[in-house]
Amino acid sequence: MSDFLTDSFGRPLEYLRLAVTDRCNLRCFYCMPAEGINYVPRKDLLSYEEMLRLTRIFVQLGVNKIRLTGGEPFVRHNFYGFLKRLTKIEGLDKIAITTNGSVAGKHIPFLKEIGITSINLSLDTLNKEKFNKITRRDFFDQAMETYNSVLDAGIKLSINMVVMEGRNIEDIVPMAMLTKNNDVTVRYIEEMPFNGKGARNTIGYNHRKILETLKSNLPALSPLTFEDGTTAQEYSIEGHNGKVGIIAAHTRTFCSSCNRIRVTATGQMKNCLYDDGVLNIKRMLTNGSSDQMICEAIKAGYSKKFKDGRVSEANQTEAISESMSSIGG
Ligand code: SAM
Ligand code: SF4
Repeated sequence: MSDFLTDSFGRPLEYLRLAVTDRCNLRCFYCMPAEGINYVPRKDLLSYEEMLRLTRIFVQLGVNKIRLTGGEPFVRHNFYGFLKRLTKIEGLDKIAITTNGSVAGKHIPFLKEIGITSINLSLDTLNKEKFNKITRRDFFDQAMETYNSVLDAGIKLSINMVVMEGRNIEDIVPMAMLTKNNDVTVRYIEEMPFNGKGARNTIGYNHRKILETLKSNLPALSPLTFEDGTTAQEYSIEGHNGKVGIIAAHTRTFCSSCNRIRVTATGQMKNCLYDDGVLNIKRMLTNGSSDQMICEAIKAGYSKKFKDGRVSEANQTEAISESMSSIGG
């Protein structure tokens, strides 16, 4: 029996972002410090069994799309076995993965075979040296192998590029050129203050500047209809196969149609990237609570969803110091 859920602003819950680990093999400077972050003890991570159970519960509440993220999902042991079981859950129309592409390349045909519907590949530059500087690791060739394999397999592909003043502004246009011949969406993301070191005062290059840069360097850009529940304002480019999108992740222009919930690798449910967490689902999954009890607790948690990310941030009890790798970006 379905039990579909809307929050107090009438926004339906349809989309679950699940962090399968807080571990990562890269050290992107905007996500974590060079020395890394303190990973939680393994026993505190959600097990695959727990993730499958909570996904079934969320589907009952109206979720039809799931994104697996982290940390780097592909570094978790037996992630492929978990995916295979996840794809068997009825009611999930879309199963998406966000990855840095460092270790997934050879397994892309398998992902196609089991029905993974889309992949977001994080790539902040097409310059190998710069990639190594940004990620503090040497995996550019592997990331490009993943890029090509996803295209070859015919899985829907989006690129996530975090745009950072002084780091990769000059890469905005070359990245857009990936859309010339291939059906790929290049998404430019405003940098957010989740770098594991504490908030920064200013985030330099915002969505307006990104758009100006694109408009002044490319053939005509036409805005596409903004779809509820998404975060990117997308544009087609005359003569290009793919499209570009701009995500005002720090400015937060899209909250009014937000339909998502996050569950961190330790099972903390978050209504918003910018909130403190509203429910410890891991505790309920391990203390004998029934599915119905967990459903009720999720409903109560979701009813606390604030109007937008600004209000969520204003209600945080501590300044933002988490890494995106532990929140589940
Ligand atoms: N490791 C995987 C990856 O990099 O794709 C998945 C996890 S990562 C935290 C998810 C997404 O968050 C990536 O696209 C990454 O670029 C983005 N991200 C991480 N830190 C960010 C920040 N401070 N501001 C904006 N986006 C960020
Ligand atoms: Fe790892 Fe992704 Fe964070 Fe980079 S953005 S350090 S790849 S979790």
